[in-house]
Amino acid sequence: MKIICIGRNYAAHIAELQNERPEEPVIFIKPDSSVLPKQQDFYIPDFSNDIHYEVEVLVKIKKVGKHISEEFASTYYDEIGLGIDFTARDLQSKLKEKGLPWEKAKGFDGAAVIGDWLPKTLFEDVNDLNFKLLKNSEIVQQGNTNLMLWKIDEIIAYVSTFFMLKKGDIVFTGTPAGVGKVSANDYLSGHLENKELFTVKIK
Ligand code: ZN
Repeated sequence: MKIICIGRNYAAHIAELQNERPEEPVIFIKPDSSVLPKQQDFYIPDFSNDIHYEVEVLVKIKKVGKHISEEFASTYYDEIGLGIDFTARDLQSKLKEKGLPWEKAKGFDGAAVIGDWLPKTLFEDVNDLNFKLLKNSEIVQQGNTNLMLWKIDEIIAYVSTFFMLKKGDIVFTGTPAGVGKVSANDYLSGHLENKELFTVKIK
């Protein structure tokens, strides 16, 4: 199983990190070892003093596909979820400065939180989903998938021209504005529409 992540997919988040607006989706991969086991606490790693949460809508791929056209992309997923793309922002900034890959900053153990899955049939339109992240009961990130620069089906089509998609692969579709640092004892919870799909305790 691989995790394919889209970077810079919400204009307001691009602005907050003072990144350039990309002409094509920014893609990176997290290894399967980065998945935080369910119900396990997230331990801030020693190599970073600036771990950021990034709440993102997730899509689970249900069958193998390559060069998928946008028109048929929706037949490749039945489940929608929510997760966190934990990022060692200090490490990432250094790597970005040098033009190096981000893997260490994005693919470390525990860097992928994957919440519960919901059938997409529950929703009228996957391009109009509200989601939010709460930190210690306060809303810190809030978004709607209608604000994505590249919509879910466009992402699947684009990604599949480079990587064969396989059953069980997960796509992280990018984070809205409001990313920020976690500290020990923080408590995060992620909500898609009105359902809580994950909680994480920071240690
Ligand atoms: Zn992200």
